[in-house]
Amino acid sequence: MIFASTKNKEIKMSYGEAIFQGLAEDGSLFHPVEKIDLKDLYYSFSSKDSFLKMASLITANLLKAEISTEEAFLICERAFTFEPKLKQLDEMFSVLELFHGPSAAFKDFGASFLASSMESFLKNRSSKAVILTATSGDTGSAVARAFYEKENIDVVILYPSNRVSPLQEKQLTTLGKNIHALEVLGSFDDCQRLVKEAFTDQALRKNYHLTSANSINVGRLIPQSFYYIWAWVHEREKRNNGELYFCVPSGNFGNLTAGLLANRWGMDLGGFIIATNRNKVVPEYLQTGEYHPRKSVQTPSNAMDVGAPSNFERMIQLYENHSAMKENLSAYFFDDETTLSEIKKYKEKYQYTICPHTAVGCLAAEAMLKETSTKAKVITLSTAHPGKFLEIVKEATEEEVDLPECLKVLINKEKFSVKMKPTLDDLRKKLKMIFQ
Ligand SMILES: *Cc1c(COP(=O)(O)O)cnc(C)c1O
Repeated sequence: MIFASTKNKEIKMSYGEAIFQGLAEDGSLFHPVEKIDLKDLYYSFSSKDSFLKMASLITANLLKAEISTEEAFLICERAFTFEPKLKQLDEMFSVLELFHGPSAAFKDFGASFLASSMESFLKNRSSKAVILTATSGDTGSAVARAFYEKENIDVVILYPSNRVSPLQEKQLTTLGKNIHALEVLGSFDDCQRLVKEAFTDQALRKNYHLTSANSINVGRLIPQSFYYIWAWVHEREKRNNGELYFCVPSGNFGNLTAGLLANRWGMDLGGFIIATNRNKVVPEYLQTGEYHPRKSVQTPSNAMDVGAPSNFERMIQLYENHSAMKENLSAYFFDDETTLSEIKKYKEKYQYTICPHTAVGCLAAEAMLKETSTKAKVITLSTAHPGKFLEIVKEATEEEVDLPECLKVLINKEKFSVKMKPTLDDLRKKLKMIFQ
């Protein structure tokens, strides 16, 4: 599979190179350049096929120029020890639960696949790698879990101080060993900027064999397309009329972009619904045609608090122009209060507890269905287990939330992080300290 920089088609790389490179050398993101057609494969799947089987066959197909079918199956087998689940709420709504992995969030799919791919590609090189990643909460914990105790790979996580939930922080800061947490006195945008700056600093990058693992890495992006297909296969068999839509709670837009790729490669669909919180630069763009990235604001769906979504440059690549994008995508944003009351509403209406991110998605799904006259079915991606956001969910529902097992064990563990200023200079010092 060949990827090129979104800004310069001459800068090209294979999958095996691009996963270690992270960003292209011109500072932009890698994006698939070949015309890929998986339609026949997608249509050959039935709901009797496991998620692992679908993922393995898609991987083998996408990476056939680089690895054997056996290797592709191995990568998926190591990565996907968990599955998505579809929960039908009523005739028009389903929720795609993506939180049954080791960190109870959808980012487990991408992180596990990336870690497993890196393991395969590193096997024959006696080289080390340092994963440098910025997180607004969930990326970091998924990455930490996916890479924990992997040989020849260290992970350095930058997260914004006081902007992740206490439990998310524990997920980042209690593993130890090859997982190092840096607590940045700034916002998620600062963390993301620092990662970008570090990657464009050639000396720093070479010195530490820096590589990325956040949503910009194609090794995270590609596998996120698999669960769209899995859900689409299940839904396609059930439905006899009406168009199918996916609704995606979005922050950095990696999850949505993966869905757009699946769509491009042959998954027929009515379209996508974008759901954001008050960080609404993409809904604004769709409405006005003008893109104004800005500082993020804090909301209860904090993993979506992104003011300058990286994947926007990929989204732009996928459409000829603004109106083509508008045909495929509709977008909605919601304020904090509405989000909290949606959590309560779902609890009362369906006896089903959702996390604040998923709540933003459910709101958008309802808003879209209200506007459309055609018969439609919406699958909303449920991006995290509600127990990851105990305080917020409790505030909304006035009831206790059950924690998933993987989080329960963290409560009594001790946090270990190193605080740092949001500057490249301080990042340099901290890396030296960790790896001296
Ligand atoms: C990361 C995350 C999102 C946003 O996903 P993007 O790919 O960044 O758009 C939504 N919900 C949760 C729980 C997340 O962790």
